[in-house]
Formats: sequence, C-alpha cells, structure tokens
Amino acid sequence: MEQLIINAIENDWVEVYYQPIYSTEERRFTAAEALMRIKDENGKIIPPGIFIDVAENNGMILRLGEMVFEKVCRFIRENQIRQYGLQYIEVNLSVIQCAYEQLADDYIRIMEENSLSPDLINLEITESASVSAKKTLLENMQSLMSYGVRFSLDDFGTGQSNLNYIVDMPVDIVKFDRSMINAYFENGKAKYVMDAAMHMIHGMDLEIVSEGIETKEQYQTMEDLGISYIQGFYFSKPLPEQEFLAFIAGTQPRSAVSVSR
Ligand code: C2E
Ligand code: MG
Ligand code: MG
Repeated sequence: MEQLIINAIENDWVEVYYQPIYSTEERRFTAAEALMRIKDENGKIIPPGIFIDVAENNGMILRLGEMVFEKVCRFIRENQIRQYGLQYIEVNLSVIQCAYEQLADDYIRIMEENSLSPDLINLEITESASVSAKKTLLENMQSLMSYGVRFSLDDFGTGQSNLNYIVDMPVDIVKFDRSMINAYFENGKAKYVMDAAMHMIHGMDLEIVSEGIETKEQYQTMEDLGISYIQGFYFSKPLPEQEFLAFIAGTQPRSAVSVSR
C-alpha cells in the first residue's frame, strides 16, 4: 500500500472526484465535496478508505492533501464554478494536516497562485485527539478564516466529532455522518438524538449537511426536518471532473447556469 501511494505521488496518479450538495431551500445544487482517489499502475481507481490510514501513519497525507487542494483550486479557476451555480467546494483535511504548522501558509499560497477568492473554498475538519494538535488546528483555522476561508465539521455523530467540538470550533457547517442518518431510520431512540442535535446546531446559527442520503424517503424526511443541505447517492455518487460538470449543467434550473455550451 505504501508503494502504491509513493507511485501515485510521483506519477501524479491522484484524482479528485466531486459529489454534488443540494440546497433544499434553493432547490438546486449549490456546492460539492472534493473526494480523493489514487490510481495504481493499471489505472485502477483506489478509494480513500483503503489508503488514507496508511498515508496518515507515514505522513504522506501531507503531500497527498496538498496535491488534492492544488487540483481543486485549478478546477475552480479553469471552470469558473459560479457559472454552474456552485458557491463553493468542500475539501477534506486530515487531522495530520491540521496539526501541521505550515498548513495555512501553504493553502493560502495555493489559492493566491490560482487567483481564487477564498469564499470558493470550505475546508472540512474532524476532531483532533490531542491538545497540541487541537491548538495548531485552531491557529491554522484562524489564519485561513482571516483570509476568508470557511470551515465545516465533518463526521458528526461518529464519535470522531462530539457535541462539545461544535462549541469549540469556529465552523459554519456541521455534516451529519451517514451512520447517524441510518440510525435515525432504524432506531426509535436515535430520532431524539438527531432532533436535539439539529435544534441545537440551528440554534447556534450553523447549517447542516446530511450525508449518505440514498433514497427518496430519506431525502423527504431530511427536507421535512428542515435540513438545509443534502449529499448522497440519491442525487449522485462522486464523479470525475468532466462528468460532474456535465451532471450539474444538466440538472440546474436555467437561471442558475450561465455557462455557454
Ligand atoms: P467523508 O469526508 O465523510 O466523505 C463522504 C463519503 O461518503 C465519501 O466516501 C462518499 O463517496 C460517501 N458517500 C456519499 N454519499 C453516500 C451515500 O449515499 N451512500 C454511501 N454508502 N456512501 C456515500 P469516499 O469518497 O470513499 O471517502 C471516504 C472518506 O475518505 C471521506 O469521508 C474522508 O474522510 C476521506 N477522504 C476523502 N477524500 C479525502 C481527501 O482529499 N483528504 C482527506 N484527508 N481525506 C479524504
Ligand atoms: Mg468530508
Ligand atoms: Mg463526512
């Protein structure tokens, strides 16, 4: 696995897929999440679940994460995503990246190189275990926020993102993990947990994205609950760049898309 990652870095076999995020209020796609894949020597796509842990343990996630961010910034610049009605792209940060002192400087430099407005970027963080990692994370967040970048708290409801983390972290968006959504439909008690979390998060004036929505019933329930953003296979799985743009251009109401085709 380690050799696979080294090969991907050296040969630039790193790809970014995009999964659309739907706004229940605007009734159209307003954002997307960038999701990393690497390819092996046969061009076979390898999903992050298989290699992220290894890349975090050997530190290669720093280079992989930076490659993903460079690709996302180039994608936004070349395609002028606002023309597609997309407000921003969400990009995942590993806890290892968040604990890296140079992160904010590196990411600001990459945005500058691409002449990107920082409000086109939303960075997804998860819970950092150690106190020192959390301190560096907050410093990185402060620098990036003063520059104009906004943040989401990913994986809420997995035990990786706890309630008090929402209180401590200056995020605008909380992402409900798929496991929480599934529990909501399978376990009577889980309903109360999600209802309470939702009211609390909305009370703090934060937005919620429900992830892993696969069926119309799940979608309808989330919309009825008042969740603002929905992400999941119900709308689309993550897609390669060009397929993603074609998907968005084909689904948005005419007024939202001003791209010449
Ligand atoms: P995540 O950030 O929570 O991303 C959402 C994951 O859920 C994605 O898996 C996505 O494909 C999957 N998903 C979305 N909708 C559905 C659905 O309706 N049903 C099901 N079953 N799954 C759905 P993916 O792309 O395999 O990524 C897995 C995880 O790997 C991500 O979870 C994130 O933690 C990590 N990851 C992905 N890209 C990056 C990256 O660029 N950097 C870092 N550090 N981590 C990344
Ligand atoms: Mg994420
Ligand atoms: Mg997530």
